[in-house]
Amino acid sequence: RVRVRFAPSPTGGLHLGGVRTALFNYLFAKQHNGDFVLRIEDTDQNRYVEGAEQYIIDCLNWCGISADESVANPGQYAPYRQSERKSLYREYAERLVMQGHAYYAFDTAEELDKCRKEIPNFQYGQVYRDTLRNSISLPQREVDQLLANHVPHVIRIKIPADETVSFTDMIRGRVSFETNTIDDKVLLKADGMPTYHLAVVVDDFLMKISHAFRGEEWLPSAPVHLLLWDYLGWKAEMPQWAHLPLILKPDGNGKLSKRDGARLGFPVFALDWDGAAGFDGMGFLPEAFINFLATLGWNDGTGQELFTLDELVSKFSIDRINKSGAKFDFEKAKWFNAEWIKKSGAETLKPKVKAVLEKNGVVIKDDAYLSIVVDLVKDRCTLLTDFYPQSAYFFQTPAEYDLPAVKPKWTDDKTAFFNEFKSIVTNLADFNSANLEAAFKTLMEQKGLKPGDVMLPFRIMLVGGKFGPHVFDIAALLGKAETINRVDVALA
Ligand code: GLU
Repeated sequence: RVRVRFAPSPTGGLHLGGVRTALFNYLFAKQHNGDFVLRIEDTDQNRYVEGAEQYIIDCLNWCGISADESVANPGQYAPYRQSERKSLYREYAERLVMQGHAYYAFDTAEELDKCRKEIPNFQYGQVYRDTLRNSISLPQREVDQLLANHVPHVIRIKIPADETVSFTDMIRGRVSFETNTIDDKVLLKADGMPTYHLAVVVDDFLMKISHAFRGEEWLPSAPVHLLLWDYLGWKAEMPQWAHLPLILKPDGNGKLSKRDGARLGFPVFALDWDGAAGFDGMGFLPEAFINFLATLGWNDGTGQELFTLDELVSKFSIDRINKSGAKFDFEKAKWFNAEWIKKSGAETLKPKVKAVLEKNGVVIKDDAYLSIVVDLVKDRCTLLTDFYPQSAYFFQTPAEYDLPAVKPKWTDDKTAFFNEFKSIVTNLADFNSANLEAAFKTLMEQKGLKPGDVMLPFRIMLVGGKFGPHVFDIAALLGKAETINRVDVALA
């Protein structure tokens, strides 16, 4: 059975790269009718951020890619939070010590700091292992004494010398590492908590994970994990790995960082702890966000760009994931959003538009009216927040008018035109866009005026500025009384 996991650490908000990892795991799982597991990797208590775990869950829900098993809906492999699994890991670390693949290390933080300062490129491992205080370099009697006296210690993996460790990555093919370049990573910390390396291997095994997509930044950790799978005797059950290409800065120059993120609205939601608006707050639709994320490193080979989540599930394929980094282009993200706004029906958009408008103090009394407005202006909106400037005038008289656009060329015959137009409108039996347009144009021709003389001013009277859909559609929707009222207000 296909079982994948998304295993974030609750150290802050989920960022673009994290959600893409979650998405690719999700797509692969759903394509194979498998399970998508969310595991919270909170073994590093120093980096723990209050609220981050809930944030991760909310974020996946918002994206429409909720986990089948998680702390919120535990399955048979519970618990799904590593801190709650603490007691499980020691046994495996000690098994490795017994087998000679790991050892106790008693060095103090000061001793290690000194090494790091004095020895360039210091690595705890093969070269210096014998000079440090650990159960390989010390006599057994002394080790037993230290353990009996509860002297603080960690358990480290013993990386073998002169070996090549390789595995086949689903995206990159055969990948090899020389063990001489790897240091003896800590497996169990002094407080009894496992490190990421031990916990990830033990949990992927116990939770029967079959495939794992994770960011390329984890590739250097892969040999440590491979050795652990091997030493623990589980190699046959090791998940198949896929290391996803990095997400690069917009100019392709280096990896996208959280710093670029704050500026570009990198997290999914607004976060108190980093002050960025987030994709949700900036007015992205989840459908557009997911669609955009899927194209960061993947395409279906046909040139198609717009996909629903269901289409992504059926079309996703590992052999179409790029090996090279994917450039994050915010303008492209906005293009996806504009396309998704156009594609979405008023019913889908309405609650979101309503929230944007109400946040800006617009009072909405009539939902049916809002639907018509949404359909009328949606082609002009890139972000959901654009619905405010693009449609507020349907609900309230414009607060300001773009007078410089008309005032310098204003003449009395234009005032006369609008006064006459008002009385025609008052008597118009069927106040619709076509009738209004016909009446307007007939009068315009009678008076020898041109569209530029009166049509633009009419738009500014209704809208406040030089924008918006067909002006007679706007007037028809505003209704007879309000159209006349706005002409009056503007002429006064
Ligand atoms: N806890 C790791 C993270 O924060 C998980 C990496 C992995 O998928 O192995 O991304």
